Amino acid sequence: MSGPPPSASPLPFGQSFWSPAVRGLVPYVPGEQPSIADLVKLNTNENPYPPSPRAVAAITAAAQNGLQLYPDPQAGALRRSIAGCHGIDAGQVFAGNGSDEVLAHAFHAFFRHSQPLLMPDVSYSFYKVYCGLYDIEAGLVPLDASLRIDVANYTAPCAGVVIANPNAPTGTGLPLAHIEQLLQQQPERVVLVDEAYVDFGGETSIGLIARYPNLLVVHTLSKSRSLAGLRVGFAAGQRHLIEALERVKDSFNSYPLDRLAIAGAVASYEDRAYFEATCAAVIESREWLCRQLQGLGFEVLPSRANFLLVRHPGFDAAALAAGLREKNVLVRHFRQPRIDQHLRISVGTPEQCGALVQACRELLKA
Ligand code: PMP
Repeated sequence: MSGPPPSASPLPFGQSFWSPAVRGLVPYVPGEQPSIADLVKLNTNENPYPPSPRAVAAITAAAQNGLQLYPDPQAGALRRSIAGCHGIDAGQVFAGNGSDEVLAHAFHAFFRHSQPLLMPDVSYSFYKVYCGLYDIEAGLVPLDASLRIDVANYTAPCAGVVIANPNAPTGTGLPLAHIEQLLQQQPERVVLVDEAYVDFGGETSIGLIARYPNLLVVHTLSKSRSLAGLRVGFAAGQRHLIEALERVKDSFNSYPLDRLAIAGAVASYEDRAYFEATCAAVIESREWLCRQLQGLGFEVLPSRANFLLVRHPGFDAAALAAGLREKNVLVRHFRQPRIDQHLRISVGTPEQCGALVQACRELLKA
């Protein structure tokens, strides 16, 4: 007789329609996006400044011209802008609908081998989600006692390596010499370096692409270019890696970037002065916030990103996050081993950072 064994508990209503693999997925949980007036929103690492006015103007113009037509499936104009900015060839760039999509395609394209994919135990939690989606074993490599990546621990046989540099949610950065060590340790596998936060003081490894056929670097326009709402990210690597990503993309969605996204992203790359000024403002606020929080007794990890990972030795992190929320300040608390006594605080405008510090001061006094 076919059917489930008698002891199997029945599926919740409707789940029998699902493909079996979907029942086992553990999806990513994004930070909250509440619509509460006057909320100081420091929980999802968005840029506190709006995008370049030139990007907004380009999106408006694109909306008035040609939306009845499909966009360029290769996003050629954007790939040329990105390549020009980073001193590489347009053929070494792959663009996608947010770097999450680029990461997903990269996991599919490079990491589906019968060995574990090495990644830090504390990092961007979407990596584990993609492992679930693509049936890849996640090989978690512990951060060291000071919550830093030690590249010497990434030598085991593997399907590849994925790290974020700067790492998230810790904010700490690795020097390029350590990235090179990773690339040399795993010459037969792709090493994916997710540089979502690199423009806030990290060192990009894009310059290493010419020498390392196994290096794939992923960037997003969501953070340093203030375009989280537009959904644009890209990967840079030698041509054979980009070709694999294109094969996956063209087996999934030929037009991941719409006309508005391409136009806005290109214009953002044309406005270098705005990009540099807003990154500098975020870095300045980060350093101010770091000093203020240390003054209140917080331990702050050295950050090269647009957020700080902090803990207070005298206060429970979940209670602090809840207390801040009552004061209309939203930060991120992860119920996750090793960092469940930390808070991740995105760097806001000087006013938002001031409001956070004031709210912390009141909570710690109470
Ligand atoms: N990588 C890291 C490390 C991130 O923190 C994020 C943002 N959540 C992303 C990638 C994805 O960014 P996006 O999809 O907005 O490009």
